[in-house]
Amino acid sequence: MSTVITHPSVDVCVIGMGCMGGNVSQLVSLAAKGYKVVGLEKGPYWNYQTDWPITKYDEYGIQIMRKNDSPLQQTTVTIRNNVNQFALPIRRNTNGQATSSGYGVGGANQHYGAQFGRYAPWTYAINSNTISKYGQAYLTAANPNDDTLDFPVTYDDYLPYYQAFEAVWGVSGTNQEPNCPSSTFPMPAHPQTAVAAAFQSAAESLGINNWPAPSAIASEPYTNSLGLNINACVYDGWCSCTSYPCETGAKASSATRTVPAAIKGGNFDLRTNSYLFRIDTDSNTGLATQARYYDAMGNVHVQPATTFALATWGFYIHWALAVSGIGTQYNPTTVTGSLGRGIANPTGAPTRTATGTLPIGQNNYTAGNGQGGSYTTYDFADDNFDHSKVSAPYLGGTRIQYGAYPSSPGLIALGAAGSAANVGAAYKASVYHKTQATKQTISAASGGMDLPQTNKYIDLDPHYYDIYGDPLPRMTLDYTINSGNASNDSVRLWTPVVEKMGVTNLTPGPAVTPAGSHFTAWGIHIRGGIRIGASSSTSVMNMYNQVWGTPNVFATGEMTQPNGSSVQTGGTHPAACTSYAAADGILKYLTSPGPLVSE
Ligand SMILES: Cc1cc2nc3c(=O)[nH]c(=O)nc-3n(C[C@H](O)[C@H](O)[C@H](O)COP(=O)(O)OP(=O)(O)OC[C@H]3O[C@@H](n4cnc5c(N)ncnc54)[C@H](O)[C@@H]3O)c2cc1C
Repeated sequence: MSTVITHPSVDVCVIGMGCMGGNVSQLVSLAAKGYKVVGLEKGPYWNYQTDWPITKYDEYGIQIMRKNDSPLQQTTVTIRNNVNQFALPIRRNTNGQATSSGYGVGGANQHYGAQFGRYAPWTYAINSNTISKYGQAYLTAANPNDDTLDFPVTYDDYLPYYQAFEAVWGVSGTNQEPNCPSSTFPMPAHPQTAVAAAFQSAAESLGINNWPAPSAIASEPYTNSLGLNINACVYDGWCSCTSYPCETGAKASSATRTVPAAIKGGNFDLRTNSYLFRIDTDSNTGLATQARYYDAMGNVHVQPATTFALATWGFYIHWALAVSGIGTQYNPTTVTGSLGRGIANPTGAPTRTATGTLPIGQNNYTAGNGQGGSYTTYDFADDNFDHSKVSAPYLGGTRIQYGAYPSSPGLIALGAAGSAANVGAAYKASVYHKTQATKQTISAASGGMDLPQTNKYIDLDPHYYDIYGDPLPRMTLDYTINSGNASNDSVRLWTPVVEKMGVTNLTPGPAVTPAGSHFTAWGIHIRGGIRIGASSSTSVMNMYNQVWGTPNVFATGEMTQPNGSSVQTGGTHPAACTSYAAADGILKYLTSPGPLVSE
């Protein structure tokens, strides 16, 4: 029989210790007022020195057995494409079902791609920007059942957050990115690859803006703005997107960039192996009163607090609010309620590709990750070109990026699914060819943004339960025509660049059929579902990531953003701004309790 343990009340209870939870924890616990903060994390504290050293390289354990991913037997999500389907649960972290979600201090940043880049100002108001420039009819044609929503903030509102986060996280790059006119990333860009040099030269001769792709992998030893010392990347090609953590701590995560500083500050109490299952509320005050969680032994802990910050990522944030009875669940029939409304999956939709060969006159070394070594342009993304002449209407566009180190994604990977295509002689030959001078295969692939629609949402599944007996979150989600139309049109935009690079035998793949294939696994960058906005009728939270109607609950992460971007689908960099907004909101609330924004 489990024991119930009640802890003394604290100022802030942060749940989830990935990037967002780490940011809130350090910002609030290190604030001058000395607020007491408890951090709950369902997984362990991964330590790169003991968990990921070179003597413990374990491709099978990491990539096939997913030993550092969130255990799906504990909780997962069910998925269907429309309301007429029966949603089925994701039960494996491989075989195309799911993509290695975060677990433990550091969250998914332990093994992410570390590709960085800010959103552009356009992204914060795609609804009103599109209507004012192209008209409502264009938006409706590009995105039937449109449910796009402007952020309640502008890029300029978030600019100080971007700058503060970059100094903590340690971004490598230059100040050439057009979205950072007044900032320089704190570390230099990673060494350029030969393929990136070919792209840079082609882009310049065609008058296309270009610059080194920003990365959250340290290009040199760095002391961050919290005084933590960070090791540089050793460029050995071990880490990769989707699977492998970093053995030097160069790949940025909360385990190396924020949580150690919060612990050192003395006001932060980290509790690992602590699984939140409820936030209780007081029906008289409407406020949240306490978090309840299980420890590894099945004991129930009760943590009262003045404020709560949910940073459990994606649908697990929706789930925590929904099982706790916080917010009004979205109903797609009546198009009312905001909790679960407006999800979109900006990655994973099919893309139009083309493949050719580029002689580079030298070998390509395995090197590092995080798009390091590559160059990029946003000239064909967002609204950086005239959309009025496109053959099928769409919003956004695609970023072009060339020359990432061939270890990204995973020179030494066993393959995402561990299938026959990823082991054996043919696979080994393809890996070998990746590094050889005469065999540089260049693939052009470009995916557009998926957009929120009124028939896409998240709710609680009526049939499937987690290990503790609570309903699983359920996603009703599919790809939109926007991404397919954007991908098809992008061919005319990037073909001249690729040809100018000297790529020969360029063979385009078939055009994508917009909405012709279906969402079958959870995406790693889902947006919306618990979005911020200007009205409680369409959003769950205000600009401080403060829940409308339950003002001492805050939530932060990618899914709190109303949409993704066509220049930056890797989510941590722009999503971090939501954690700074939440921390600001919590600090304001602790001084003056109540709603921080009125409708
Ligand atoms: C394969 C992959 C590649 C990616 N590549 C990139 C990239 O190149 N660039 C980029 O910017 N982003 C990338 N991302 C996305 C990036 O990892 C996320 O943006 C980032 O991790 C989000 O941080 P978070 O704190 O919101 O969530 P997470 O990192 O997921 O952290 C959430 C934490 O909450 C904990 N938690 C969940 N539920 C509970 C509970 N009930 N109780 C207690 N704790 C709980 C989890 O264990 C986890 O540690 C990638 C993600 C994946 C999966």
